[in-house]
Amino acid sequence: MSTFPFQDELDAQLEWQREVYREAHRHPEVSGHEHATAERLQKELESWGLSVQRIGGTGVVTVLRNGEGPTVLARADIDALPVAEATGLDYASEEDGVMHACGHDMHLTALLGAAKLMHARRDAWSGTYIALFQPAEEDASGARQMIDDGLVDAVPQPDVALGQHILPLPAGHVYTAAGAVLSQADSVRVTLFGRGAHGSMPHLSVDPVVLAASVVMRLQTVVSRETQPGEFAVLTVGSITSGSSANVIPDRAQLLLNLRTYDTDVRRRVIAGLERIVRGECEAAGSPKEPEFEYYDQFPLTQNAEETTEKITEVFREHLGPDVVQEARPATASEDFSELPDAFGVPYVYWFVGCVDPDTYEQAVQAGRVNEDIPANHSPLFAPVIDPTVELTTKAQVIAALAYLG
Ligand code: ZN
Ligand code: ZN
Repeated sequence: MSTFPFQDELDAQLEWQREVYREAHRHPEVSGHEHATAERLQKELESWGLSVQRIGGTGVVTVLRNGEGPTVLARADIDALPVAEATGLDYASEEDGVMHACGHDMHLTALLGAAKLMHARRDAWSGTYIALFQPAEEDASGARQMIDDGLVDAVPQPDVALGQHILPLPAGHVYTAAGAVLSQADSVRVTLFGRGAHGSMPHLSVDPVVLAASVVMRLQTVVSRETQPGEFAVLTVGSITSGSSANVIPDRAQLLLNLRTYDTDVRRRVIAGLERIVRGECEAAGSPKEPEFEYYDQFPLTQNAEETTEKITEVFREHLGPDVVQEARPATASEDFSELPDAFGVPYVYWFVGCVDPDTYEQAVQAGRVNEDIPANHSPLFAPVIDPTVELTTKAQVIAALAYLG
């Protein structure tokens, strides 16, 4: 039995929220360029009489002060991806080669709706509610940008921070877990040096293409042979570039790697392993120059505080119904959300919400084809169901906040 305290107000605004979602979906903007999105959010919040701060360029923050009590910071990311949408939805992206393929349009819709409910029902809570719309999550720069632009001094010190993400799981469910729920991530640009020569004279070269191939194969052993079975690590070679013509042996190769880990010690060992292998292969090849490593797009670990997660899971069960709330499995994706609570030194809870039609999902499970048939975040076919996802993500944001402010 679900008992959402602001159900009447939510029912009255749901159609408006669905349109907010479709509008956001039609007009995605990539990381750092969320100008129209931020503008729309600001206009909407100001039209209710709220004051809005722009922090970190396209970051939008509103603070609802409502008497004595704790302070809750709720965050939604707002950026989209350079993906060409292929869903065929009637509200598909109208921006060439840009798509809300990660569902941040759903997150911003939920937080805007939650802020509207909190504003309308100030009689039902006390304290301070901060709604924070964060740009540039996808390139790991947005949270940092807001912090560097003075976020910590611009808003009251929160007691807790809240965030959520939709995932390709059955719609109508919320998933929570204490501990690590999203991995830390590192991208690495590795440059390998060879000696260029004519394609017909390999004996005059140190061939960086062969060297790179050897590095790629050997890197596969970092996870399979050097990481303890059961410990989580991903090492992906996402890009390999060298040379541009058939009859020239180039003088360098570049690899782009992506690492994911849940544990700082595992991360340290994976990095040590990959650097050792790259150096060793360069040595074996007779490379004329030390390889170079450049680390970028680094995401922190998302690790839910035990007590805070228990508290929020309990209110979710109470107000959404026990069947709605399930245990989350840690996802291999990463987020920069935790930089925000870390900047304030406060605990946080980051939960997931399913967004796939439950029958479609069940059919895929029965056929053993979940990976093949259910488009995940970042897929050009990612198409969250609007109902009940808009409603459930909005409720989740409100219920979690009321756990502190109610
Ligand atoms: Zn994403
Ligand atoms: Zn995302």
